[in-house]
Amino acid sequence: MTGPNISPNDNSLDCDVLVVGAGFAGLYAVYAARRLGHSVVGIEAGDDVGGTWYWNRYPGARCDVESIDYSYSFDAELQRDWRWTERYATQPEILAYARHVADRFKLRRHYRFNERVAAASFDEAAAAWTVQLAKGDRLRARWIIFAAGSLSTPIRPDISGIDDFAGEMLFTARWPEERVTFDGKRVGIIGTGASGIQCAPIIAQTAAKLTVFQRSPNYSVPAFNRALPDDEWAEIQASYSERRRQSFASGGGSPHEVDPREIWDIDEGERASLFENGWKKGGVLFAKIFPKQTMDERVNALARDFAEKKIRAIVRDESLADDLIPTDHAIGTKRICTDSGYFETFNRDNVELVNLRRDPIIEITERGVRTRNASHDLDMLIFATGFDAMTGTITRVDFRGPGGQSMAEAWADGPKTMLGLMVPGFPNLFNITGPGSPSVLTNMILGAEQHVNWALGLMSHTQQKGYTMVEARRDAADAWTAHVDAIASATLFTQAKSWYMGANVDGKKRTFMPYIGGFAAYIRECEAVRAEGYKGFVFAS
Ligand code: FAD
Ligand code: NAP
Repeated sequence: MTGPNISPNDNSLDCDVLVVGAGFAGLYAVYAARRLGHSVVGIEAGDDVGGTWYWNRYPGARCDVESIDYSYSFDAELQRDWRWTERYATQPEILAYARHVADRFKLRRHYRFNERVAAASFDEAAAAWTVQLAKGDRLRARWIIFAAGSLSTPIRPDISGIDDFAGEMLFTARWPEERVTFDGKRVGIIGTGASGIQCAPIIAQTAAKLTVFQRSPNYSVPAFNRALPDDEWAEIQASYSERRRQSFASGGGSPHEVDPREIWDIDEGERASLFENGWKKGGVLFAKIFPKQTMDERVNALARDFAEKKIRAIVRDESLADDLIPTDHAIGTKRICTDSGYFETFNRDNVELVNLRRDPIIEITERGVRTRNASHDLDMLIFATGFDAMTGTITRVDFRGPGGQSMAEAWADGPKTMLGLMVPGFPNLFNITGPGSPSVLTNMILGAEQHVNWALGLMSHTQQKGYTMVEARRDAADAWTAHVDAIASATLFTQAKSWYMGANVDGKKRTFMPYIGGFAAYIRECEAVRAEGYKGFVFAS
C-alpha cells in the first residue's frame, strides 16, 4: 500500500501522506513528499494521471497561460528536456507532458487509479486520518494533501427532460477518449464560457449545423497562438530561470505585469496603442494592461470599449454582434476566454446563435432542445456548463474533523481558511489551490508547487517539534478570510455573477473565493507566517 521503498513512520498507518488527485498538483505532492522521505499513497478517480487534462479532451482544449510558464519549475532538467511545440499547447500535448513527468519520476507506482476518496475521519488519539475509498477499502494516513482540483467537479444542468435526448450527449469536462466526429451532424452546444468558446469553432468546421445556446455572452480575446521555433526556444532556455523568478514575483504567476502608470497620465494615442499591444498579447492578459483596470469602472469602460470594437469588426451581422457582446460585467471580472476564431464562427452559414435571455430553454426533448420560440432538432448535444468550482470537490468528500463537523457544514456560509491551505477543525489536512489562495487567478502549476512546498514545510516543522498534529486556529482563519474578502471588495470582481463568486451554482453562498492580492503578495504572506513559527496554527500530540 505504501511507496516502493519507504515504510510509514508509524506502523499503525498505511502511509505518512495520502495525496488525493493525480493532476499537476497531486503529482508534484507525491514527488515532493517522497523526496522528503515520506511514504506516500495517491488516490485518483481517473484511470491515469493528468487531472484537468485527462478529463477535458474536447476539441480545441488548450491552456490559456503560455506553456513555457504553465509547466513545472521544480526540476531544471525536466524544464530543459521537454520541448513545447506551441505557445499555448493543446490538451493532448499537456496530457503527454503530465504522463512524461509521471514516467520520468516514477510517480504512478504510488497511485491507486479508478479509486475515489469518499470520506475521511480524523482519529485524534492516533493523530491520523482514516480514509474511506468509494469501492470499500480503508487507509490510514497521518497527513492528507487534497489536490483534487478547483475545476474538477462538472455541473450537469438541471434542465427538464435532459435524460430524454435520444442523440449523442457529451460533456466537455468528461469528453470520451474515442474520436468524436461532427461530420454532417446537427450539433447543439449549451454554454459559452472558456470551454464552449474553445470548441465551437472546431465543431463548426465539419458539422452540418452548429447551434450555440448562449445564456450569457463572454469576453474573449484571440490566443494569437503559434508554433515555437527553435531560435525562440533557445532564447527561452537561456533565460528560463529569470523567467521563473519573475513569475514567482508576479501577480498572476507568469512574467507579465501591468503598465505601472496611471491611465489618465497617458495620452489617448499611447493609451490606444497600449490596449492594442495588450490585445495582441492574447487571452487573459488583456485584463492586465493598467493597474486599475478591474478596480475602477472608468478604466474598465475603456477596455470594454476597445474589446467591443474588436468584436464588431469581426462579426458581420450587427444584431448578432449585439448579442455576443457582454453588457452585464466589467471585462476581466469573469475570466476572459482565450479563443481561436470564436467570433468569426458566427459569420458562417452553418452556425446559429440562440440568445437564451430572449428565448429561454423550456426543455430538452428526444429530438433536441425546445426553447420558448422554436424547436431545435439535434443529432448531438454538448454541455460546456462549467464546474462547482473551488469548493465543490472537497465538500463532496465527507471529511469529518475531531468535532464531527463536515467540510460542507463548516463552509455552509462560505469557505473559511488559513492561507487557503488549512481549515479550522480539520487537522493535518492541506487543501491545494483552494479558496483563500490565489488559485484560479494565477498560473496553477506554480501555485501548486508553492502550496505543496509550504505544506511540507509545515509538516516537517510539526514533526521536528515533536508534535503529530497541526491545525489552523479559528481566529487566524477568520482574519485571513476577512482579508481575502476585503481586498476582493475593493475590486469590480465582486459585482460579476461569476463562478469565482459561486454564482453559477444554485444555493451556493455568494462570496469571492480566491485570494486576489496576487501571487507574489500571497507568497510573502505565507513566508511571514512561517518566519513567525507558523503563527495562526496550533500544534498538538
Ligand atoms: P486537477 O487537474 O483538476 O486534478 C484533480 C484530480 O483529482 C482529478 O484527476 C480528479 O479526478 C481527482 N479527484 C477529484 N476528487 C477526487 C476524489 N474524491 N478521489 C480521488 N480523486 C479525485 N489553469 C491555468 O493556470 N492555466 C490554464 O491554461 C488552464 N486551463 C484550463 C483549461 C480547462 C479546460 C480547465 C477545466 C481548467 C484549466 N485551468 C488552467 C485550471 C486547471 O484546473 C489547473 O491549471 C490545473 O490543471 C489543476 O491541477 P490540479 O492537480 O490542482 O487539479
Ligand atoms: P464556465 O465559464 O462556468 O461556463 C459555463 C457556461 O455554461 C456559461 O456560459 C453558463 O452560462 C452556461 N450554462 C450553465 N448552465 C446553463 C444552463 N442551465 N443553461 C444555459 N447555459 C448554462 O465553464 P467553462 O467554460 O468550463 O470554464 C470554467 C473555467 O475553466 C474557465 O473560466 C477557466 O478558468 C477554465 N478553462 C480554461 C480554458 C482555457 O482556455 N485554457 C478552457 C476551459 C476552461 P451563464 O454564464 O449564464 O451561467
